[in-house]
Amino acid sequence: MITSHEEALREAEKCMYCGFCEAVCPTITHGPHRGYGPRGRIQLIKTILTQENTSKAVIDSIYTCTLCAACIEKCPAKVNIIDLIIYARSTIIYENGNKLIEIMHKDV
Ligand code: SF4
Ligand code: SF4
Repeated sequence: MITSHEEALREAEKCMYCGFCEAVCPTITHGPHRGYGPRGRIQLIKTILTQENTSKAVIDSIYTCTLCAACIEKCPAKVNIIDLIIYARSTIIYENGNKLIEIMHKDV
């Protein structure tokens, strides 16, 4: 279990951008861009942790992950995407709780 932003960033930094995970992700073909696959989600999680971006599109990407873990099986770096997604979701709620409804009703 990831318990701090530092730990989460260290886990995210293990990603080598190889893209092997994308072939098995069930959500990447349903999204408008690669942010709906594991590699893209890891990069978006970094922007959440550094408070650069908590837009509706980023939140949507993080919440559409099914937590199926198929990507972990293919990952040579063994990035624990499940733990990262769970930590990112808790961060979104904790840091933006009062603004979430407003964010999700924006058009973009
Ligand atoms: S855990 Fe999430 S990112 Fe990984 S393959 Fe499943 S849906 Fe895709
Ligand atoms: S397989 Fe692992 S290291 Fe390669 S892009 Fe996906 S998460 Fe990153």
